[in-house]
Amino acid sequence: MKILLLALLLTISIQLIAKDLITLRGNPIQGGILICEIAESVEKVFLDHKEIPIFDNTAILGFDRDAKLRHILTLVMKNGEMETTEFYLTKREYETQRIDNIPPEYLEDPTDPDVIKRIELEYSTLHEIRKNIYKNQFIYLDDFTIPVENGDVTGVFGSNRILNGITVSPHNGLDIAAPKGTDIFAMTNGVVALTGNYYYNGKFVLLDHGAGLTSIYIHMSSINVEAGDYILTGEKIGEVGSTGRSTGNHLHWGVGWKDKRIDPELLQNIDDIFLKIGMR
Ligand SMILES: [Zn+2]
Repeated sequence: MKILLLALLLTISIQLIAKDLITLRGNPIQGGILICEIAESVEKVFLDHKEIPIFDNTAILGFDRDAKLRHILTLVMKNGEMETTEFYLTKREYETQRIDNIPPEYLEDPTDPDVIKRIELEYSTLHEIRKNIYKNQFIYLDDFTIPVENGDVTGVFGSNRILNGITVSPHNGLDIAAPKGTDIFAMTNGVVALTGNYYYNGKFVLLDHGAGLTSIYIHMSSINVEAGDYILTGEKIGEVGSTGRSTGNHLHWGVGWKDKRIDPELLQNIDDIFLKIGMR
């Protein structure tokens, strides 16, 4: 009886100790992100041999529209041991969106030197801010929410676009059409990294969610927040409009992980476990 009890206790304690080193949840697909829950015993995580920052036992891995499909995940334990595994992303097919009858002035590049200077300055400001965001040492993740309720999706992530017969760069966000003045909410907890009224973006808010994850909301009619503000999931940050280079009232919602473009629509079902690496 004593031996049986001892064996039972031993089994229970082994199960308690045998914790997963890393659990990846999310969408293993081009344009998707994976949220990693990491055990205390893990010192470092590498994706394709590049170190990924860990905050509060959490790390994010993001994959571009055209990311390669095979990836290598390496864990370095505090005791010096290493674990390596490879995984594959699902390949995506992107639709082609043809829009004709766009007023030509929306497609022409500006020629006015002052406007060109302005665009260059805006581009470099945004670039600098994003570079600093990647260095930030925090994570503010929470559940994700859609920034505009009851809108119509008029443009999806990744689509190849032919505007007035001319091929332009693929669409890198999600367009949600809604009447001017419709509330725009933060997709998850974050800090306002930048707001502005730019030539192309119009009025916009850039949120920093930590661990390299950002979201941008552009063409707004009004902005309710300032750089440095802490914003909670679902909090109002502004209203839908058509400022900047836009042909109608809509929100262009962009999501990024470092310099990779992420599909905002994929953030809605992020809880499925994709991969677990357990203790050997
Ligand atoms: Zn758009």
